[in-house]
Amino acid sequence: MRVIVDENLCGTTGQCVLTLPSVFHQREADGIAVVCLATVPEELREAVLLTVSQCPVAAIRIVATAPGEPAVQATGPGRVTSNDGMGADDEAT
Ligand code: SF4
Repeated sequence: MRVIVDENLCGTTGQCVLTLPSVFHQREADGIAVVCLATVPEELREAVLLTVSQCPVAAIRIVATAPGEPAVQATGPGRVTSNDGMGADDEAT
């Protein structure tokens, strides 16, 4: 899966970096979060879902890279939606 941070939304809180430093880091120049990995391993999906749900400005989303793989979009702090029809909130907790 691919993970994307919307740089225009990122509030530079650093929460995603604290939660999952193997995937996110903050640019030194402006504190914007960036994704370190071109492709994030599936075994990190639950941890990424946690960062999606924790982002206070809904700047993080998961992009499906394989057929049938759910894409996830944050809709606000603590809320995520998934296109798999099952809802991602349960997966993030
Ligand atoms: S949690 Fe959200 S607002 Fe905070 S640094 Fe990460 S992407 Fe930016």
